[in-house]
Amino acid sequence: MSRAGRHEQLRAGNGPVTVPAGFLSEVAVVTGPRLLSGLEDGPAIGAHRRYWPEPEPVPPGELLELLARVELRGRGGAGFPFARKFRATLRAGRRRAVVVNAAESDPSSAKDSVLMLRAPHLVLDGAHLVARALKVRRVHLVVPAERKAVLPEVEAAVRQREDEGIDHRVHVADGGFTGGQDRAVLELLEGRANLPATAHRPPAVRGLGGRPTLLSNAETFAQVAVAAALGPHEFRRLGTETEPGTTLLTVGGDGEHGIVLEVPLGTAMGEVLAHLGYESGSNLLVGGYHGTWLPARRTLRGRVSHLDLAESGAVLGPGAILPVAGDACPVRLTARIVDFLASGTVRGCGPCRLGLAELAEAIARFADVGGLSAGNRIRQLLPLVVGRGACSHPDATARLVRSLFTAFPEEIALHEEGRCAVTGDARGSELFRSVSRSARGDDEAGPWTGQDGDSPYGGPDAGDPAYGAQAPRRARTGPGRRRFRR
Ligand code: SF4
Repeated sequence: MSRAGRHEQLRAGNGPVTVPAGFLSEVAVVTGPRLLSGLEDGPAIGAHRRYWPEPEPVPPGELLELLARVELRGRGGAGFPFARKFRATLRAGRRRAVVVNAAESDPSSAKDSVLMLRAPHLVLDGAHLVARALKVRRVHLVVPAERKAVLPEVEAAVRQREDEGIDHRVHVADGGFTGGQDRAVLELLEGRANLPATAHRPPAVRGLGGRPTLLSNAETFAQVAVAAALGPHEFRRLGTETEPGTTLLTVGGDGEHGIVLEVPLGTAMGEVLAHLGYESGSNLLVGGYHGTWLPARRTLRGRVSHLDLAESGAVLGPGAILPVAGDACPVRLTARIVDFLASGTVRGCGPCRLGLAELAEAIARFADVGGLSAGNRIRQLLPLVVGRGACSHPDATARLVRSLFTAFPEEIALHEEGRCAVTGDARGSELFRSVSRSARGDDEAGPWTGQDGDSPYGGPDAGDPAYGAQAPRRARTGPGRRRFRR
């Protein structure tokens, strides 16, 4: 079956539902086996309770033991062990806070929004369990401004829970790509702009209003509810010995070609791709726009695993996987992403104000004009942006570019000779000019739609909906629909 056919089958029949979890569009969701089970019945509390009974309060010591036994890792980015975060919050003081971060500001991910739209009570069950154990009476929930459907659904869900002795505050993150970072979320909750800020201690020790704050991503809280409902033995039945349980993935971005699914940790990457109709040995960008490139040869050996990916310097991040057609140019795709990342901050720190803009310009030049000196300019810039920002945004952007050089040495060598396997001799193309203008801040519309309206993830194969993820979009200004201009 063709990729498009498989994609259509997944969207149309046998379980998948579509959910308006993207910035502007729906994504398909493959239901089951745990967090995504029963989504067909809708998000109301009555439907939820048919699958998940109301959790009994768990004393803090027991909850800590459970979290340690299921070895739950955060599902927002770094994969930090949740039991350690819980323990630190518990020990850091008595006036604690709990924050559910569903800001999901990376446009390549949609899984948290799917949960908030279709299984909000599973997230709330987990948040309430944690809040009760920490003796917290208010749960803060952070939802994305860009995904309009999420806020009303979350407000409806919390109204159904108002009699449970825990109240809720819902906040809307409007800080763009970096607005979902922990410190940016805390800034928002404290009444300031939703932007990252420098902090010397983690939120678990000094968070909201200086209090110990357990801030974690929406899926992590849903996993807490699942662990409490199933118990450690059943929870560990899926996944691997060192990484038990399941995880949510967003494959193909958050647009109309995106699919959210739940897989046991340790599942072969190729198996996931084949299930969705992609080549099992596709080049991948794993971990979202702050992620790392995996060439096809490594995809074939790779597994959906924080630990496996970490061994090779990659990150699973929020579980966003962008498959790329083998004949698309990863250098050009990286140029567009770096441009997005460079223009998506307020440029308050040196590396964002100067370094990322210059890096975006350099990589666009390398993509379109090429040459050894252009490649060397990128190598020169990378160490200059690392370790100097108030947050990790410049470092993560540099890691993405480094992974391009590591994953695709042949493409890099071709570009150093002024050639490109996809476009041939691309000198005179418009990408460099538009990216450099955008990275400098001269042009508000990002080059997310190619010159012919093609998807940056599809290359020449972009007409095939299953193989081209959506064009990435600007978090702050909405989808860039303008074509490149001279
Ligand atoms: S490093 Fe960049 S994204 Fe982070 S706080 Fe500074 S300006 Fe903002």
